[in-house]
Amino acid sequence: MSRGKFYFSVDLDRDVNVPLPGRVAAGSLDRGSGPSPRWSSAEKGLGILLDVLDEVGIRATFFVEGRTAEVVDCSGISGHSVGFHGYDHEDLSGESTGVELSSGDVEGILRKGFEAVSDNVSRPVCFRAPYMVFDPGAISLLPGMGIRADSSEYRLGGCDPYDTGLGVVEYPVPKSRDASGKPIAAYLWPMHEGRRGPEDYVDMAAGMGTFALATHTWHMCERRDGGVMDASEQRLNAGRVREVLTGVLDLGFSPAVICRSRVGYS
Ligand SMILES: [Zn+2]
Repeated sequence: MSRGKFYFSVDLDRDVNVPLPGRVAAGSLDRGSGPSPRWSSAEKGLGILLDVLDEVGIRATFFVEGRTAEVVDCSGISGHSVGFHGYDHEDLSGESTGVELSSGDVEGILRKGFEAVSDNVSRPVCFRAPYMVFDPGAISLLPGMGIRADSSEYRLGGCDPYDTGLGVVEYPVPKSRDASGKPIAAYLWPMHEGRRGPEDYVDMAAGMGTFALATHTWHMCERRDGGVMDASEQRLNAGRVREVLTGVLDLGFSPAVICRSRVGYS
């Protein structure tokens, strides 16, 4: 099979983010001291992941949450592609929080996130909705901010970028089935949690002509189930990420970043 592009993307957002009922802003998983957002793993994990990317020699696309850009030193991602990811990790659909947002509310959130990332990192060139909620109403607001690329959609079977018809090109994150027939999504979440190995993702990539893969910085040093990793667990976890990335590159994919449309926009 001829291989095309490989898009590795990273959500840089609050640790173990969770929607909170009745609230627009997300929290962090309550580990006994309440659901207030935390950023210690996001910040530490960013350093670990940047080292892995340096070793492997690829650039990634970072989707930075606005509030995270204000709290965490994101200077290390210069040289990578920068997107944004809401301001307070809002569920723009309101489904998980029960908070209905008007299109004016959604626009306000998007502008706030865009500006926080512009002011603290660099002007974002793409967008990923928190919780991968692909909402055409929100997507159609992006061109007004100069954003022409989005990556908020899971797509079964492949991930070739396509024109949404909303002024934005979509870079989907693929889903498929593994060798035993179980569904797999190209997010490294289950691997960080110890439920999948690097080979699952390399096998997934082997069945595709274009591949996209995603993770979070906090997941480099904290598990949702199991809490903060010790130093040896962090090393093993980083080694698994390195193994996936080198395995995908060894298949012949060319690393690429999500930055602009490839179908006619500039
Ligand atoms: Zn997120």
